[in-house]
Amino acid sequence: MVLEKPGGPLVLRERPVPVSADGEVLIEVSACGVCRTDLHLLDTELPDIRYPIVPGHQIVGRVVETGSGVHSLKCGQRVGVPWLGGTCGHCGYCADGRENLCDAARFTGYQIDGGYATHCVADARYAFALPETYGDLEVAPLLCAGLIGYRSLRMCGDARRVGFYGFGAAAHILTQVALWQGRTVFAFTRPGDLRAQAFATGLGAAWVGDSDAIPPEPLDAAVIFAAAGELVPAALKAIRKGGTVVCGGIHMSDIPRFPYSSLWGERSVRSVANLTRRDAEEFLALAPRVPVRTQITVYPLEQANTALDDLRAGRLSGAAVIAPRQESSA
Ligand SMILES: [Zn+2]
Ligand SMILES: [Zn+2]
Repeated sequence: MVLEKPGGPLVLRERPVPVSADGEVLIEVSACGVCRTDLHLLDTELPDIRYPIVPGHQIVGRVVETGSGVHSLKCGQRVGVPWLGGTCGHCGYCADGRENLCDAARFTGYQIDGGYATHCVADARYAFALPETYGDLEVAPLLCAGLIGYRSLRMCGDARRVGFYGFGAAAHILTQVALWQGRTVFAFTRPGDLRAQAFATGLGAAWVGDSDAIPPEPLDAAVIFAAAGELVPAALKAIRKGGTVVCGGIHMSDIPRFPYSSLWGERSVRSVANLTRRDAEEFLALAPRVPVRTQITVYPLEQANTALDDLRAGRLSGAAVIAPRQESSA
Protein backbone atom coordinates (compact mmCIF):
# COMPACT_ATOMS: atom_id res chain seq x y z
CA MET A 1 0.00 0.00 0.00
CA VAL A 2 1.82 3.04 -1.34
CA LEU A 3 1.62 6.74 -0.51
CA GLU A 4 2.12 8.35 -3.91
CA LYS A 5 1.15 11.93 -3.24
CA PRO A 6 0.52 14.33 -0.36
CA GLY A 7 -2.72 13.53 1.44
CA GLY A 8 -2.98 9.99 0.09
CA PRO A 9 -4.94 7.79 0.11
CA LEU A 10 -2.65 4.78 0.02
CA VAL A 11 -2.88 2.86 -3.24
CA LEU A 12 -2.56 -0.89 -3.73
CA ARG A 13 0.34 -1.54 -6.13
CA GLU A 14 1.95 -4.71 -7.30
CA ARG A 15 5.72 -4.48 -7.35
CA PRO A 16 8.53 -6.98 -7.76
CA VAL A 17 9.73 -8.42 -4.45
CA PRO A 18 12.69 -6.27 -3.33
CA VAL A 19 16.19 -7.74 -3.16
CA SER A 20 18.32 -7.52 -0.03
CA ALA A 21 21.52 -5.52 -0.58
CA ASP A 22 24.71 -5.99 1.44
CA GLY A 23 23.92 -5.92 5.12
CA GLU A 24 20.19 -6.18 4.56
CA VAL A 25 17.59 -8.86 5.02
CA LEU A 26 14.48 -9.48 2.96
CA ILE A 27 11.47 -9.99 5.20
CA GLU A 28 8.13 -11.59 4.44
CA VAL A 29 5.78 -9.42 6.45
CA SER A 30 3.14 -11.07 8.61
CA ALA A 31 1.97 -8.01 10.56
CA CYS A 32 2.56 -4.28 10.74
CA GLY A 33 1.27 -1.95 13.43
CA VAL A 34 -0.45 1.31 12.54
CA CYS A 35 0.91 4.43 14.21
CA ARG A 36 -0.18 8.05 14.45
CA THR A 37 3.07 8.94 12.69
CA ASP A 38 1.60 7.27 9.59
CA LEU A 39 -1.18 9.88 9.70
CA HIS A 40 1.40 12.66 10.04
CA LEU A 41 3.09 11.25 6.94
CA LEU A 42 -0.21 11.20 5.06
CA ASP A 43 -1.01 14.75 6.18
CA THR A 44 2.50 16.03 5.20
CA GLU A 45 3.20 17.02 8.78
CA LEU A 46 6.69 15.51 8.51
CA PRO A 47 9.43 17.26 6.50
CA ASP A 48 11.00 16.08 3.23
CA ILE A 49 8.66 13.21 2.42
CA ARG A 50 9.74 11.38 -0.73
CA TYR A 51 7.09 9.81 -2.91
CA PRO A 52 6.27 7.06 -3.48
CA ILE A 53 6.75 5.60 -0.01
CA VAL A 54 5.34 2.51 1.69
CA PRO A 55 4.45 3.45 5.30
CA GLY A 56 4.59 1.17 8.32
CA HIS A 57 7.28 0.96 10.99
CA GLN A 58 6.11 -1.75 13.39
CA ILE A 59 6.97 -4.67 11.16
CA VAL A 60 6.84 -8.33 12.14
CA GLY A 61 7.92 -10.97 9.68
CA ARG A 62 10.33 -13.70 8.80
CA VAL A 63 13.69 -13.40 7.13
CA VAL A 64 13.52 -15.04 3.70
CA GLU A 65 16.84 -13.87 2.27
CA THR A 66 20.02 -12.43 3.74
CA GLY A 67 22.33 -10.06 1.89
CA SER A 68 26.06 -10.60 1.99
CA GLY A 69 27.72 -9.78 5.27
CA VAL A 70 24.68 -10.59 7.39
CA HIS A 71 25.60 -12.97 10.20
CA SER A 72 23.32 -11.81 13.01
CA LEU A 73 20.08 -13.04 11.40
CA LYS A 74 19.17 -16.28 9.68
CA CYS A 75 16.60 -17.29 7.12
CA GLY A 76 13.35 -18.35 8.78
CA GLN A 77 13.98 -16.25 11.88
CA ARG A 78 11.17 -14.00 13.11
CA VAL A 79 12.20 -10.37 13.41
CA GLY A 80 10.74 -6.99 14.24
CA VAL A 81 11.66 -3.79 12.44
CA PRO A 82 11.02 -0.48 14.22
CA TRP A 83 11.04 3.19 13.19
CA LEU A 84 14.82 3.58 13.48
CA GLY A 85 16.07 2.06 10.23
CA GLY A 86 19.68 3.22 10.22
CA THR A 87 22.17 5.70 11.66
CA CYS A 88 25.58 7.00 10.60
CA GLY A 89 27.34 5.29 13.51
CA HIS A 90 30.08 7.90 13.93
CA CYS A 91 28.59 11.34 14.65
CA GLY A 92 28.66 12.83 18.14
CA TYR A 93 25.15 11.59 18.91
CA CYS A 94 25.84 8.06 17.70
CA ALA A 95 29.13 7.92 19.60
CA ASP A 96 27.34 9.19 22.68
CA GLY A 97 24.62 6.53 22.91
CA ARG A 98 22.04 8.90 21.48
CA GLU A 99 21.68 7.48 17.99
CA ASN A 100 18.01 8.47 18.13
CA LEU A 101 19.22 12.04 17.48
CA CYS A 102 21.61 11.20 14.60
CA ASP A 103 21.25 13.79 11.84
CA ALA A 104 21.78 11.12 9.21
CA ALA A 105 19.31 8.64 10.71
CA ARG A 106 16.93 6.90 8.31
CA PHE A 107 13.47 5.87 9.32
CA THR A 108 11.33 2.92 8.34
CA GLY A 109 8.15 3.76 6.46
CA TYR A 110 9.42 7.31 5.91
CA GLN A 111 12.80 7.21 4.13
CA ILE A 112 12.80 3.42 3.77
CA ASP A 113 9.81 1.52 2.39
CA GLY A 114 7.98 0.03 5.36
CA GLY A 115 5.67 -2.78 6.32
CA TYR A 116 2.36 -1.96 4.66
CA ALA A 117 3.42 -4.61 2.18
CA THR A 118 3.94 -8.33 1.74
CA HIS A 119 7.72 -7.89 1.74
CA CYS A 120 10.30 -5.32 2.79
CA VAL A 121 14.03 -5.06 3.24
CA ALA A 122 15.75 -3.85 6.39
CA ASP A 123 19.28 -3.23 7.61
CA ALA A 124 19.99 -6.35 9.66
CA ARG A 125 21.63 -4.28 12.43
CA TYR A 126 18.33 -2.53 13.12
CA ALA A 127 16.06 -5.58 13.17
CA PHE A 128 15.34 -7.45 16.38
CA ALA A 129 14.45 -10.90 17.58
CA LEU A 130 11.02 -10.78 19.24
CA PRO A 131 9.87 -12.39 22.49
CA GLU A 132 8.49 -15.83 21.65
CA THR A 133 5.50 -15.62 23.96
CA TYR A 134 3.77 -13.24 21.55
CA GLY A 135 1.97 -13.98 18.30
CA ASP A 136 2.91 -11.98 15.20
CA LEU A 137 -0.15 -9.72 15.34
CA GLU A 138 -0.13 -8.92 19.03
CA VAL A 139 3.61 -8.18 19.17
CA ALA A 140 3.51 -5.59 16.36
CA PRO A 141 2.34 -2.62 18.50
CA LEU A 142 5.24 -3.15 20.87
CA LEU A 143 7.60 -1.94 18.13
CA CYS A 144 6.61 1.73 18.26
CA ALA A 145 3.72 2.37 20.61
CA GLY A 146 5.57 0.19 23.10
CA LEU A 147 9.15 1.18 22.37
CA ILE A 148 8.88 4.93 22.01
CA GLY A 149 6.22 4.94 24.71
CA TYR A 150 8.70 3.19 26.96
CA ARG A 151 11.34 5.79 26.20
CA SER A 152 8.78 8.48 27.09
CA LEU A 153 7.93 6.76 30.35
CA ARG A 154 11.62 6.52 31.20
CA MET A 155 11.84 10.31 30.84
CA CYS A 156 9.36 10.51 33.75
CA GLY A 157 12.17 9.33 36.03
CA ASP A 158 10.92 8.02 39.35
CA ALA A 159 7.54 9.78 39.08
CA ARG A 160 4.94 7.82 41.04
CA ARG A 161 1.79 9.53 39.78
CA VAL A 162 1.92 9.59 35.99
CA GLY A 163 -0.67 11.08 33.65
CA PHE A 164 -1.18 9.87 30.08
CA TYR A 165 -2.81 12.33 27.68
CA GLY A 166 -4.36 10.49 24.74
CA PHE A 167 -5.32 6.95 25.60
CA GLY A 168 -4.45 5.06 22.42
CA ALA A 169 -1.98 2.37 21.45
CA ALA A 170 0.95 3.74 23.44
CA ALA A 171 -0.95 4.55 26.63
CA HIS A 172 -2.66 1.16 26.72
CA ILE A 173 0.75 -0.52 26.71
CA LEU A 174 2.46 1.96 29.02
CA THR A 175 -0.28 1.78 31.63
CA GLN A 176 0.56 -1.88 32.09
CA VAL A 177 4.28 -1.13 32.38
CA ALA A 178 3.73 1.80 34.77
CA LEU A 179 1.50 -0.23 37.09
CA TRP A 180 4.01 -3.07 37.09
CA GLN A 181 6.68 -0.52 38.09
CA GLY A 182 4.50 0.50 41.04
CA ARG A 183 3.32 3.83 39.61
CA THR A 184 -0.23 5.17 39.70
CA VAL A 185 -1.78 6.03 36.33
CA PHE A 186 -4.10 8.92 35.54
CA ALA A 187 -5.72 8.75 32.09
CA PHE A 188 -6.81 11.83 30.14
CA THR A 189 -8.91 11.39 27.02
CA ARG A 190 -10.70 13.54 24.47
CA PRO A 191 -13.43 15.32 26.44
CA GLY A 192 -16.46 13.06 26.82
CA ASP A 193 -14.80 9.98 25.29
CA LEU A 194 -16.45 7.55 27.71
CA ARG A 195 -15.36 4.50 25.69
CA ALA A 196 -11.68 5.44 26.03
CA GLN A 197 -12.20 6.26 29.70
CA ALA A 198 -13.78 2.88 30.35
CA PHE A 199 -10.91 1.24 28.47
CA ALA A 200 -8.37 3.04 30.69
CA THR A 201 -10.25 2.07 33.85
CA GLY A 202 -10.29 -1.56 32.70
CA LEU A 203 -6.50 -1.45 32.35
CA GLY A 204 -6.09 -0.22 35.89
CA ALA A 205 -5.94 3.58 35.69
CA ALA A 206 -6.66 5.01 39.15
CA TRP A 207 -8.45 8.04 37.69
CA VAL A 208 -9.86 8.86 34.27
CA GLY A 209 -11.09 12.20 32.98
CA ASP A 210 -11.22 14.73 30.19
CA SER A 211 -7.96 16.19 28.90
CA ASP A 212 -8.78 19.64 30.27
CA ALA A 213 -9.57 18.36 33.76
CA ILE A 214 -7.42 18.87 36.84
CA PRO A 215 -6.74 15.51 38.51
CA PRO A 216 -7.66 15.03 42.18
CA GLU A 217 -4.01 15.10 43.18
CA PRO A 218 -1.06 16.72 41.41
CA LEU A 219 0.92 14.47 39.09
CA ASP A 220 4.66 13.90 39.27
CA ALA A 221 4.88 13.64 35.48
CA ALA A 222 2.69 13.57 32.41
CA VAL A 223 3.23 12.05 28.97
CA ILE A 224 1.35 13.55 26.04
CA PHE A 225 0.71 11.02 23.27
CA ALA A 226 -1.95 13.06 21.47
CA ALA A 227 -0.83 15.52 18.78
CA ALA A 228 -2.64 18.53 20.29
CA GLY A 229 -0.38 21.39 21.42
CA GLU A 230 -3.03 22.75 23.80
CA LEU A 231 -2.39 19.72 26.01
CA VAL A 232 1.01 21.13 27.03
CA PRO A 233 -0.35 24.00 29.14
CA ALA A 234 -3.14 21.68 30.36
CA ALA A 235 -0.61 19.10 31.54
CA LEU A 236 1.58 21.76 33.16
CA LYS A 237 -1.41 22.69 35.30
CA ALA A 238 -1.81 19.06 36.34
CA ILE A 239 1.78 18.45 37.52
CA ARG A 240 3.40 19.43 40.78
CA LYS A 241 6.50 21.60 41.20
CA GLY A 242 9.56 19.88 39.80
CA GLY A 243 7.39 17.71 37.56
CA THR A 244 7.96 16.96 33.88
CA VAL A 245 5.69 17.03 30.85
CA VAL A 246 6.97 14.66 28.17
CA CYS A 247 5.75 15.08 24.59
CA GLY A 248 5.90 11.61 23.06
CA GLY A 249 4.79 12.26 19.48
CA ILE A 250 6.77 13.24 16.39
CA HIS A 251 4.41 16.07 15.52
CA MET A 252 2.17 18.35 17.51
CA SER A 253 0.01 21.33 16.65
CA ASP A 254 1.38 24.66 17.90
CA ILE A 255 1.49 25.07 21.65
CA PRO A 256 -0.66 28.02 22.69
CA ARG A 257 0.95 30.74 24.80
CA PHE A 258 0.71 30.24 28.52
CA PRO A 259 1.82 32.22 31.58
CA TYR A 260 5.34 31.67 32.91
CA SER A 261 3.77 30.83 36.26
CA SER A 262 2.65 27.50 34.73
CA LEU A 263 6.31 26.58 34.15
CA TRP A 264 7.61 28.14 37.35
CA GLY A 265 8.57 25.85 40.20
CA GLU A 266 11.11 23.94 38.13
CA ARG A 267 8.52 22.27 35.98
CA SER A 268 9.90 21.17 32.64
CA VAL A 269 8.61 20.34 29.18
CA ARG A 270 10.55 18.03 26.89
CA SER A 271 10.11 15.95 23.78
CA VAL A 272 11.11 12.39 23.05
CA ALA A 273 12.55 11.65 19.63
CA ASN A 274 12.67 8.24 17.98
CA LEU A 275 14.41 5.35 19.72
CA THR A 276 17.80 3.80 20.17
CA ARG A 277 18.50 0.14 19.61
CA ARG A 278 19.17 -0.10 23.32
CA ASP A 279 15.60 1.07 24.01
CA ALA A 280 14.39 -1.74 21.78
CA GLU A 281 16.48 -4.39 23.50
CA GLU A 282 15.44 -3.21 26.95
CA PHE A 283 11.76 -2.93 26.21
CA LEU A 284 11.47 -6.19 24.27
CA ALA A 285 13.07 -7.95 27.23
CA LEU A 286 10.78 -6.23 29.72
CA ALA A 287 7.42 -6.61 27.92
CA PRO A 288 7.05 -10.38 28.45
CA ARG A 289 7.98 -10.02 32.12
CA VAL A 290 5.12 -7.58 32.87
CA PRO A 291 3.59 -9.23 30.82
CA VAL A 292 2.27 -6.54 28.48
CA ARG A 293 -0.85 -7.63 26.60
CA THR A 294 -1.89 -5.68 23.52
CA GLN A 295 -5.47 -5.16 22.45
CA ILE A 296 -5.54 -5.08 18.67
CA THR A 297 -7.90 -4.62 15.76
CA VAL A 298 -6.68 -6.43 12.65
CA TYR A 299 -7.17 -5.14 9.09
CA PRO A 300 -6.22 -6.88 5.85
CA LEU A 301 -3.42 -5.08 4.00
CA GLU A 302 -5.78 -3.74 1.32
CA GLN A 303 -7.79 -2.01 4.05
CA ALA A 304 -4.89 0.05 5.37
CA ASN A 305 -6.80 3.26 4.58
CA THR A 306 -9.70 2.10 6.74
CA ALA A 307 -7.31 1.39 9.60
CA LEU A 308 -5.86 4.89 9.27
CA ASP A 309 -9.35 6.44 9.14
CA ASP A 310 -10.38 4.55 12.27
CA LEU A 311 -7.25 5.71 14.08
CA ARG A 312 -7.86 9.31 13.03
CA ALA A 313 -11.48 9.20 14.17
CA GLY A 314 -10.62 7.67 17.54
CA ARG A 315 -12.68 4.56 16.82
CA LEU A 316 -10.04 2.13 18.12
CA SER A 317 -9.47 0.76 21.59
CA GLY A 318 -5.81 -0.15 21.68
CA ALA A 319 -3.83 -0.62 18.48
CA ALA A 320 -4.54 -1.29 14.81
CA VAL A 321 -2.50 -3.95 13.04
CA ILE A 322 -2.32 -4.62 9.33
CA ALA A 323 -1.88 -8.18 8.12
CA PRO A 324 -1.01 -9.09 4.52
CA ARG A 325 -2.37 -12.60 4.88
CA GLN A 326 -5.15 -13.94 7.04
CA GLU A 327 -3.64 -15.41 10.12
CA SER A 328 -5.05 -16.25 13.50
CA SER A 329 -3.63 -14.51 16.54
CA ALA A 330 -1.47 -16.75 18.68
ZN1 LIG B 1 5.24 5.05 15.41
ZN1 LIG C 1 25.00 9.54 13.67
